[in-house]
Amino acid sequence: MNIAVIGTGYVGLVSGVCYAQLGNQVVCVDKDPGKIGILNAGGIPIYEPGLREMASANRSAGRLTFTTDLAGAVRGSDIVILAVGTPPLPSGEANLAYIDQAACEIAEAMNGYKIVAVKSTVPVGTNERIARLIRSRTDQPFASISLPEFLREGSAIHDTLHPDRIVIGADCPSAGDTMVQLHRPLTERIVVTDIRSAEMIKYASNAFLATKISFINEIANICEKVGADVTRVAEGMGYDQRIGPAFLKAGIGYGGSCFPKDTHALIQIAGHVDYEFKLLRSVVEVNRDQRFNVIRKLEAIFNGELRGKTVAVWGLAFKPNTDDVRESPALEIIRHLVDHGAKVKAYDPVAMSNFRGLFGHGGGVIWCKDALETARGADALCLLTEWDEFARIDLGLLRQSLNRPILIDGRNVFHEESLLGTDFIYYSVGRPSLN
Ligand code: NAD
Repeated sequence: MNIAVIGTGYVGLVSGVCYAQLGNQVVCVDKDPGKIGILNAGGIPIYEPGLREMASANRSAGRLTFTTDLAGAVRGSDIVILAVGTPPLPSGEANLAYIDQAACEIAEAMNGYKIVAVKSTVPVGTNERIARLIRSRTDQPFASISLPEFLREGSAIHDTLHPDRIVIGADCPSAGDTMVQLHRPLTERIVVTDIRSAEMIKYASNAFLATKISFINEIANICEKVGADVTRVAEGMGYDQRIGPAFLKAGIGYGGSCFPKDTHALIQIAGHVDYEFKLLRSVVEVNRDQRFNVIRKLEAIFNGELRGKTVAVWGLAFKPNTDDVRESPALEIIRHLVDHGAKVKAYDPVAMSNFRGLFGHGGGVIWCKDALETARGADALCLLTEWDEFARIDLGLLRQSLNRPILIDGRNVFHEESLLGTDFIYYSVGRPSLN
Protein backbone atom coordinates (compact mmCIF):
# COMPACT_ATOMS: atom_id res chain seq x y z
CA MET A 1 0.00 0.00 0.00
CA ASN A 2 1.06 3.63 -0.47
CA ILE A 3 1.20 5.33 2.91
CA ALA A 4 2.00 8.88 4.05
CA VAL A 5 2.81 9.29 7.74
CA ILE A 6 2.42 12.89 8.93
CA GLY A 7 4.66 13.71 11.92
CA THR A 8 8.01 12.00 12.19
CA GLY A 9 8.43 11.87 15.97
CA TYR A 10 8.70 8.81 18.23
CA VAL A 11 5.45 7.34 16.90
CA GLY A 12 5.42 8.49 13.27
CA LEU A 13 9.01 7.55 12.53
CA VAL A 14 8.85 4.10 14.09
CA SER A 15 5.46 3.37 12.48
CA GLY A 16 6.61 4.60 9.08
CA VAL A 17 9.76 2.50 9.19
CA CYS A 18 7.80 -0.58 10.29
CA TYR A 19 5.11 -0.16 7.60
CA ALA A 20 7.96 -0.02 5.07
CA GLN A 21 9.48 -3.11 6.68
CA LEU A 22 6.20 -4.91 5.91
CA GLY A 23 6.72 -4.11 2.22
CA ASN A 24 4.59 -0.97 1.89
CA GLN A 25 5.66 2.19 0.10
CA VAL A 26 6.01 4.82 2.82
CA VAL A 27 6.72 8.53 2.84
CA CYS A 28 7.33 10.13 6.25
CA VAL A 29 6.52 13.83 6.49
CA ASP A 30 7.57 16.39 9.07
CA LYS A 31 7.31 20.16 9.06
CA ASP A 32 10.65 20.35 10.85
CA PRO A 33 13.27 20.59 8.08
CA GLY A 34 16.00 19.84 10.65
CA LYS A 35 14.52 16.39 11.35
CA ILE A 36 13.98 15.62 7.68
CA GLY A 37 17.54 16.75 6.93
CA ILE A 38 18.94 14.33 9.53
CA LEU A 39 16.77 11.49 8.18
CA ASN A 40 17.73 12.15 4.56
CA ALA A 41 21.39 12.13 5.60
CA GLY A 42 20.92 8.62 7.04
CA GLY A 43 20.64 9.76 10.68
CA ILE A 44 17.86 9.33 13.25
CA PRO A 45 16.74 12.36 15.28
CA ILE A 46 15.67 10.27 18.32
CA TYR A 47 17.27 7.47 20.31
CA GLU A 48 15.43 4.23 19.64
CA PRO A 49 17.31 0.91 19.57
CA GLY A 50 17.38 -0.74 16.12
CA LEU A 51 15.64 2.09 14.30
CA ARG A 52 18.64 3.40 12.38
CA GLU A 53 19.42 0.01 10.86
CA MET A 54 15.83 -0.72 9.87
CA ALA A 55 15.31 2.75 8.40
CA SER A 56 18.50 2.47 6.41
CA ALA A 57 17.60 -0.98 5.01
CA ASN A 58 14.20 0.23 3.88
CA ARG A 59 15.58 3.41 2.32
CA SER A 60 18.06 1.30 0.37
CA ALA A 61 15.22 -0.97 -0.75
CA GLY A 62 13.41 2.12 -2.09
CA ARG A 63 10.37 1.68 0.18
CA LEU A 64 10.97 4.62 2.53
CA THR A 65 11.43 8.34 1.90
CA PHE A 66 11.39 11.48 4.04
CA THR A 67 10.07 14.89 3.07
CA THR A 68 8.71 18.22 4.30
CA ASP A 69 6.30 18.26 1.34
CA LEU A 70 3.04 17.20 2.95
CA ALA A 71 0.91 17.96 -0.10
CA GLY A 72 3.07 15.84 -2.42
CA ALA A 73 3.10 12.98 0.10
CA VAL A 74 -0.70 13.06 0.45
CA ARG A 75 -1.24 13.15 -3.30
CA GLY A 76 0.93 10.06 -3.81
CA SER A 77 -0.74 7.99 -1.07
CA ASP A 78 -3.92 5.99 -0.48
CA ILE A 79 -3.62 6.02 3.29
CA VAL A 80 -2.62 9.11 5.28
CA ILE A 81 -1.66 8.46 8.90
CA LEU A 82 -1.58 11.34 11.36
CA ALA A 83 1.07 11.00 14.07
CA VAL A 84 1.61 14.60 15.13
CA GLY A 85 1.94 15.56 18.78
CA THR A 86 -1.01 16.26 21.08
CA PRO A 87 0.82 17.85 24.03
CA PRO A 88 -1.09 18.99 27.12
CA LEU A 89 -2.50 22.49 27.48
CA PRO A 90 -2.09 24.11 30.91
CA SER A 91 -5.67 22.93 31.67
CA GLY A 92 -4.62 19.30 31.13
CA GLU A 93 -6.64 19.01 27.92
CA ALA A 94 -4.94 17.79 24.76
CA ASN A 95 -3.73 20.55 22.46
CA LEU A 96 -5.24 19.74 19.07
CA ALA A 97 -3.61 22.61 17.20
CA TYR A 98 -1.12 20.34 15.38
CA ILE A 99 -3.87 17.88 14.50
CA ASP A 100 -6.11 20.63 13.14
CA GLN A 101 -3.34 22.20 11.12
CA ALA A 102 -2.28 18.87 9.62
CA ALA A 103 -5.91 17.97 8.83
CA CYS A 104 -6.37 21.26 6.94
CA GLU A 105 -3.16 20.70 4.99
CA ILE A 106 -4.25 17.16 4.11
CA ALA A 107 -7.65 18.38 2.95
CA GLU A 108 -6.13 21.01 0.71
CA ALA A 109 -3.79 18.46 -0.88
CA MET A 110 -6.36 15.70 -1.51
CA ASN A 111 -6.65 14.54 -5.13
CA GLY A 112 -9.01 11.57 -4.77
CA TYR A 113 -10.22 9.03 -2.21
CA LYS A 114 -8.00 8.70 0.90
CA ILE A 115 -8.17 6.85 4.17
CA VAL A 116 -7.24 9.32 6.91
CA ALA A 117 -6.14 7.41 10.00
CA VAL A 118 -5.27 9.05 13.31
CA LYS A 119 -2.52 7.43 15.37
CA SER A 120 -2.07 10.45 17.64
CA THR A 121 -3.79 10.09 21.01
CA VAL A 122 -6.86 12.29 20.75
CA PRO A 123 -9.93 12.89 22.93
CA VAL A 124 -13.15 11.11 22.12
CA GLY A 125 -14.87 12.91 19.26
CA THR A 126 -11.68 14.25 17.67
CA ASN A 127 -11.85 12.01 14.59
CA GLU A 128 -15.31 13.42 13.91
CA ARG A 129 -13.92 16.93 14.33
CA ILE A 130 -11.10 16.12 11.88
CA ALA A 131 -13.63 14.75 9.39
CA ARG A 132 -15.66 17.97 9.65
CA LEU A 133 -12.53 20.05 9.11
CA ILE A 134 -11.56 18.07 6.02
CA ARG A 135 -15.11 18.13 4.66
CA SER A 136 -15.24 21.90 5.04
CA ARG A 137 -12.15 22.25 2.84
CA THR A 138 -12.57 19.66 0.10
CA ASP A 139 -15.18 17.73 -1.87
CA GLN A 140 -12.80 14.80 -2.28
CA PRO A 141 -14.04 11.53 -0.73
CA PHE A 142 -12.30 10.08 2.34
CA ALA A 143 -12.84 7.70 5.24
CA SER A 144 -11.86 8.37 8.87
CA ILE A 145 -10.08 5.74 10.91
CA SER A 146 -9.03 5.87 14.55
CA LEU A 147 -5.81 3.88 14.90
CA PRO A 148 -4.55 4.33 18.46
CA GLU A 149 -0.90 3.56 19.08
CA PHE A 150 0.37 1.50 22.01
CA LEU A 151 4.13 1.32 21.38
CA ARG A 152 6.59 2.02 24.20
CA GLU A 153 9.67 4.11 23.62
CA GLY A 154 12.78 1.98 24.06
CA SER A 155 11.10 -1.13 22.62
CA ALA A 156 9.10 0.65 19.94
CA ILE A 157 10.13 -1.53 16.99
CA HIS A 158 9.36 -4.75 18.81
CA ASP A 159 6.05 -3.35 20.04
CA THR A 160 5.10 -2.25 16.53
CA LEU A 161 6.03 -5.49 14.80
CA HIS A 162 4.66 -7.71 17.61
CA PRO A 163 1.73 -5.79 19.07
CA ASP A 164 -0.52 -7.28 21.76
CA ARG A 165 -3.41 -6.04 19.65
CA ILE A 166 -4.32 -3.57 16.94
CA VAL A 167 -7.35 -1.36 17.46
CA ILE A 168 -9.15 0.02 14.42
CA GLY A 169 -12.05 2.41 14.84
CA ALA A 170 -13.99 2.72 11.60
CA ASP A 171 -17.37 3.95 10.49
CA CYS A 172 -16.81 2.80 6.92
CA PRO A 173 -16.52 -1.02 6.68
CA SER A 174 -14.41 -1.07 3.50
CA ALA A 175 -11.86 1.37 4.95
CA GLY A 176 -11.85 -0.73 8.13
CA ASP A 177 -11.14 -3.83 5.99
CA THR A 178 -8.23 -2.09 4.24
CA MET A 179 -6.71 -1.21 7.61
CA VAL A 180 -7.21 -4.78 8.84
CA GLN A 181 -5.36 -6.02 5.73
CA LEU A 182 -2.51 -3.57 6.38
CA HIS A 183 -2.07 -4.81 9.95
CA ARG A 184 -2.88 -8.51 9.49
CA PRO A 185 0.81 -9.47 9.04
CA LEU A 186 1.44 -8.15 12.57
CA THR A 187 -1.20 -9.99 14.57
CA GLU A 188 -4.47 -11.90 14.44
CA ARG A 189 -5.72 -9.91 17.42
CA ILE A 190 -7.36 -6.96 15.68
CA VAL A 191 -10.23 -5.20 17.43
CA VAL A 192 -12.45 -3.42 14.92
CA THR A 193 -14.86 -1.05 16.58
CA ASP A 194 -16.64 2.26 16.21
CA ILE A 195 -14.45 5.37 16.19
CA ARG A 196 -15.39 6.73 19.62
CA SER A 197 -14.71 3.40 21.34
CA ALA A 198 -11.30 3.17 19.65
CA GLU A 199 -10.42 6.66 20.88
CA MET A 200 -11.53 5.65 24.39
CA ILE A 201 -9.55 2.36 24.36
CA LYS A 202 -6.29 4.30 24.19
CA TYR A 203 -7.09 6.55 27.16
CA ALA A 204 -8.60 3.73 29.20
CA SER A 205 -5.51 1.55 28.60
CA ASN A 206 -3.05 4.24 29.68
CA ALA A 207 -5.19 5.22 32.67
CA PHE A 208 -5.32 1.59 33.78
CA LEU A 209 -1.55 1.14 33.49
CA ALA A 210 -0.97 4.38 35.41
CA THR A 211 -3.36 3.08 38.06
CA LYS A 212 -1.36 -0.12 38.43
CA ILE A 213 1.84 1.89 38.91
CA SER A 214 0.36 4.22 41.51
CA PHE A 215 -1.26 1.26 43.25
CA ILE A 216 1.99 -0.66 43.67
CA ASN A 217 3.78 2.55 44.70
CA GLU A 218 1.30 3.07 47.52
CA ILE A 219 1.70 -0.58 48.53
CA ALA A 220 5.48 0.06 48.54
CA ASN A 221 5.08 3.06 50.81
CA ILE A 222 3.10 0.92 53.25
CA CYS A 223 5.67 -1.91 52.93
CA GLU A 224 8.38 0.51 54.08
CA LYS A 225 6.40 1.26 57.20
CA VAL A 226 5.43 -2.32 58.07
CA GLY A 227 8.75 -3.94 57.15
CA ALA A 228 7.56 -5.89 54.09
CA ASP A 229 9.37 -6.15 50.73
CA VAL A 230 7.30 -4.83 47.82
CA THR A 231 9.21 -6.85 45.21
CA ARG A 232 8.13 -10.07 46.94
CA VAL A 233 4.62 -8.70 47.41
CA ALA A 234 4.40 -7.84 43.69
CA GLU A 235 5.74 -11.28 42.75
CA GLY A 236 3.15 -12.96 44.94
CA MET A 237 0.39 -10.82 43.47
CA GLY A 238 1.56 -11.08 39.87
CA TYR A 239 1.25 -14.86 39.59
CA ASP A 240 -2.49 -14.40 40.01
CA GLN A 241 -3.69 -14.38 36.41
CA ARG A 242 -6.40 -11.91 37.25
CA ILE A 243 -3.67 -9.44 38.25
CA GLY A 244 -0.61 -10.26 36.12
CA PRO A 245 3.01 -9.24 36.82
CA ALA A 246 3.34 -6.28 34.42
CA PHE A 247 3.44 -2.74 35.76
CA LEU A 248 3.81 -3.87 39.36
CA LYS A 249 7.30 -2.46 39.76
CA ALA A 250 7.53 0.06 42.56
CA GLY A 251 9.65 3.15 42.02
CA ILE A 252 9.48 6.92 41.87
CA GLY A 253 6.48 7.00 39.55
CA TYR A 254 5.73 7.28 35.87
CA GLY A 255 6.75 10.12 33.58
CA GLY A 256 7.14 10.50 29.85
CA SER A 257 5.06 12.03 27.12
CA CYS A 258 2.05 9.73 27.49
CA PHE A 259 0.86 8.66 30.95
CA PRO A 260 0.96 12.13 32.58
CA LYS A 261 -0.67 13.76 29.57
CA ASP A 262 -3.25 11.06 28.89
CA THR A 263 -4.38 10.71 32.51
CA HIS A 264 -4.90 14.48 32.76
CA ALA A 265 -6.71 14.49 29.43
CA LEU A 266 -9.06 11.67 30.47
CA ILE A 267 -9.92 13.54 33.68
CA GLN A 268 -10.83 16.50 31.47
CA ILE A 269 -12.76 14.35 28.99
CA ALA A 270 -14.81 12.96 31.89
CA GLY A 271 -15.25 16.45 33.34
CA HIS A 272 -16.74 17.70 30.08
CA VAL A 273 -19.56 15.18 30.46
CA ASP A 274 -20.05 16.03 34.15
CA TYR A 275 -18.26 12.97 35.45
CA GLU A 276 -15.63 13.27 38.12
CA PHE A 277 -13.04 10.52 37.63
CA LYS A 278 -12.09 10.32 41.32
CA LEU A 279 -9.94 7.21 41.02
CA LEU A 280 -7.81 8.67 38.25
CA ARG A 281 -7.40 11.97 40.11
CA SER A 282 -5.90 10.00 43.02
CA VAL A 283 -3.64 8.04 40.66
CA VAL A 284 -2.22 11.32 39.35
CA GLU A 285 -1.80 12.75 42.85
CA VAL A 286 -0.04 9.62 44.15
CA ASN A 287 2.30 9.69 41.17
CA ARG A 288 3.14 13.34 41.66
CA ASP A 289 4.04 12.70 45.28
CA GLN A 290 5.99 9.49 44.70
CA ARG A 291 9.03 11.22 43.20
CA PHE A 292 9.52 13.00 46.53
CA ASN A 293 10.15 9.58 48.07
CA VAL A 294 13.79 10.16 47.08
CA ILE A 295 13.87 13.67 48.55
CA ARG A 296 12.25 12.53 51.81
CA LYS A 297 14.94 9.89 52.23
CA LEU A 298 17.73 12.36 51.54
CA GLU A 299 16.24 14.80 54.02
CA ALA A 300 15.96 12.11 56.68
CA ILE A 301 19.63 11.16 56.15
CA PHE A 302 20.86 14.76 56.24
CA ASN A 303 18.60 15.83 59.14
CA GLY A 304 16.52 18.03 56.85
CA GLU A 305 19.51 20.03 55.60
CA LEU A 306 20.34 19.60 51.91
CA ARG A 307 22.31 22.84 51.68
CA GLY A 308 25.97 22.27 50.89
CA LYS A 309 25.54 18.53 50.23
CA THR A 310 26.74 17.06 46.96
CA VAL A 311 24.12 14.74 45.48
CA ALA A 312 24.92 12.55 42.47
CA VAL A 313 22.01 11.68 40.16
CA TRP A 314 22.11 8.70 37.82
CA GLY A 315 19.45 8.75 35.13
CA LEU A 316 17.55 11.68 33.61
CA ALA A 317 15.33 10.00 30.99
CA PHE A 318 11.85 9.09 32.20
CA LYS A 319 12.75 5.44 31.63
CA PRO A 320 15.71 3.49 30.21
CA ASN A 321 16.45 3.04 26.50
CA THR A 322 15.07 6.39 25.47
CA ASP A 323 16.35 9.96 25.31
CA ASP A 324 12.86 11.29 26.05
CA VAL A 325 12.84 13.46 29.17
CA ARG A 326 9.32 14.85 28.91
CA GLU A 327 7.74 14.79 32.42
CA SER A 328 10.71 12.84 33.76
CA PRO A 329 10.63 12.70 37.60
CA ALA A 330 14.31 13.74 37.47
CA LEU A 331 13.28 17.25 36.41
CA GLU A 332 11.41 17.96 39.61
CA ILE A 333 13.81 16.07 41.87
CA ILE A 334 16.87 17.95 40.60
CA ARG A 335 15.00 21.26 40.67
CA HIS A 336 14.10 20.63 44.34
CA LEU A 337 17.67 19.69 45.26
CA VAL A 338 19.11 22.78 43.57
CA ASP A 339 16.47 25.07 45.08
CA HIS A 340 17.36 23.74 48.54
CA GLY A 341 21.05 24.46 48.17
CA ALA A 342 22.41 21.04 47.20
CA LYS A 343 25.16 20.73 44.60
CA VAL A 344 23.93 18.22 42.00
CA LYS A 345 26.11 16.10 39.72
CA ALA A 346 24.02 14.48 36.97
CA TYR A 347 24.48 11.90 34.26
CA ASP A 348 22.42 9.90 31.76
CA PRO A 349 23.78 7.62 29.01
CA VAL A 350 21.73 9.26 26.21
CA ALA A 351 19.37 11.92 27.55
CA MET A 352 21.86 14.58 28.72
CA SER A 353 21.29 17.09 25.94
CA ASN A 354 17.48 16.76 25.91
CA PHE A 355 17.45 17.12 29.70
CA ARG A 356 19.63 20.20 29.69
CA GLY A 357 17.39 21.71 27.02
CA LEU A 358 14.28 21.22 29.17
CA PHE A 359 15.85 21.90 32.57
CA GLY A 360 17.57 25.09 31.47
CA HIS A 361 21.22 25.84 31.81
CA GLY A 362 21.00 27.51 35.22
CA GLY A 363 23.58 26.94 37.94
CA GLY A 364 23.67 24.26 40.59
CA VAL A 365 24.12 21.22 38.34
CA ILE A 366 27.36 19.72 37.12
CA TRP A 367 26.75 17.65 33.98
CA CYS A 368 29.05 14.62 34.03
CA LYS A 369 30.42 12.30 31.37
CA ASP A 370 30.05 8.93 33.06
CA ALA A 371 28.55 7.18 36.06
CA LEU A 372 31.68 7.03 38.24
CA GLU A 373 32.69 10.62 37.53
CA THR A 374 29.19 11.61 38.66
CA ALA A 375 29.59 9.74 41.93
CA ARG A 376 33.03 11.17 42.69
CA GLY A 377 32.99 13.18 45.94
CA ALA A 378 29.21 12.92 46.38
CA ASP A 379 27.58 12.70 49.80
CA ALA A 380 24.78 10.56 48.36
CA LEU A 381 23.89 8.93 45.07
CA CYS A 382 20.30 8.78 43.75
CA LEU A 383 19.44 6.36 40.97
CA LEU A 384 16.42 7.67 39.07
CA THR A 385 16.40 5.68 35.79
CA GLU A 386 17.12 1.95 35.61
CA TRP A 387 19.66 1.92 32.78
CA ASP A 388 21.54 -1.39 32.55
CA GLU A 389 24.91 0.31 32.93
CA PHE A 390 23.96 1.42 36.45
CA ALA A 391 22.88 -2.08 37.46
CA ARG A 392 26.21 -3.45 36.16
CA ILE A 393 28.42 -0.90 37.94
CA ASP A 394 31.40 -2.19 39.92
CA LEU A 395 30.25 -1.50 43.48
CA GLY A 396 33.87 -1.45 44.75
CA LEU A 397 34.77 1.37 42.35
CA LEU A 398 31.53 3.13 43.16
CA ARG A 399 32.31 2.98 46.88
CA GLN A 400 35.77 4.48 46.26
CA SER A 401 34.25 7.33 44.25
CA LEU A 402 31.62 8.39 46.75
CA ASN A 403 32.44 10.67 49.66
CA ARG A 404 29.76 8.93 51.77
CA PRO A 405 28.39 5.48 50.91
CA ILE A 406 24.77 6.52 50.69
CA LEU A 407 22.81 4.97 47.83
CA ILE A 408 19.17 5.81 47.20
CA ASP A 409 17.80 3.48 44.57
CA GLY A 410 14.59 4.97 43.17
CA ARG A 411 14.04 2.00 40.85
CA ASN A 412 14.97 -1.01 43.01
CA VAL A 413 17.82 -1.93 40.68
CA PHE A 414 20.25 -3.36 43.21
CA HIS A 415 19.82 -6.67 45.00
CA GLU A 416 20.37 -7.03 48.70
CA GLU A 417 22.90 -9.87 48.19
CA SER A 418 25.23 -7.67 46.12
CA LEU A 419 25.30 -5.06 48.90
CA LEU A 420 25.73 -7.38 51.87
CA GLY A 421 29.23 -7.12 53.30
CA THR A 422 29.65 -3.57 51.98
CA ASP A 423 29.21 -0.43 54.04
CA PHE A 424 26.67 1.08 51.64
CA ILE A 425 23.76 2.67 53.42
CA TYR A 426 21.10 1.59 50.99
CA TYR A 427 17.54 2.79 50.58
CA SER A 428 15.18 1.61 47.87
CA VAL A 429 11.42 1.83 47.36
CA GLY A 430 9.21 -0.42 49.46
CA ARG A 431 12.05 -2.64 50.62
CA PRO A 432 13.89 -2.71 53.95
CA SER A 433 16.92 -0.39 54.06
CA LEU A 434 20.42 -1.83 54.60
CA ASN A 435 23.10 -0.76 57.13
P1 NAD B 1 6.63 13.94 18.81
O1 NAD B 1 6.47 15.27 19.43
O2 NAD B 1 7.86 13.13 19.04
O3 NAD B 1 6.46 14.07 17.22
C1 NAD B 1 5.46 14.81 16.58
C2 NAD B 1 6.02 15.29 15.24
O4 NAD B 1 4.97 15.87 14.48
C3 NAD B 1 7.09 16.38 15.39
O5 NAD B 1 8.27 15.96 14.74
C4 NAD B 1 6.47 17.61 14.70
O6 NAD B 1 7.43 18.42 14.03
C5 NAD B 1 5.52 16.94 13.72
N1 NAD B 1 4.43 17.79 13.24
C6 NAD B 1 3.59 18.56 13.95
N2 NAD B 1 2.71 19.18 13.12
C7 NAD B 1 3.00 18.77 11.86
C8 NAD B 1 2.45 19.05 10.58
N3 NAD B 1 1.40 19.87 10.41
N4 NAD B 1 2.99 18.46 9.52
C9 NAD B 1 4.05 17.62 9.65
N5 NAD B 1 4.62 17.31 10.83
C10 NAD B 1 4.09 17.90 11.92
O7 NAD B 1 5.33 13.12 19.26
P2 NAD B 1 5.22 11.55 19.55
O8 NAD B 1 5.83 11.22 20.88
O9 NAD B 1 5.63 10.78 18.35
O10 NAD B 1 3.63 11.41 19.75
C11 NAD B 1 2.74 11.58 18.65
C12 NAD B 1 1.35 11.17 19.12
O11 NAD B 1 1.33 9.77 19.44
C13 NAD B 1 0.85 11.88 20.38
O12 NAD B 1 -0.53 12.08 20.28
C14 NAD B 1 1.16 10.88 21.47
O13 NAD B 1 0.29 11.03 22.58
C15 NAD B 1 0.89 9.57 20.78
N6 NAD B 1 1.63 8.42 21.35
C16 NAD B 1 2.95 8.58 21.71
C17 NAD B 1 3.65 7.49 22.21
C18 NAD B 1 5.09 7.63 22.64
O14 NAD B 1 5.60 6.71 23.29
N7 NAD B 1 5.77 8.71 22.33
C19 NAD B 1 3.01 6.23 22.32
C20 NAD B 1 1.69 6.12 21.91
C21 NAD B 1 1.00 7.23 21.42
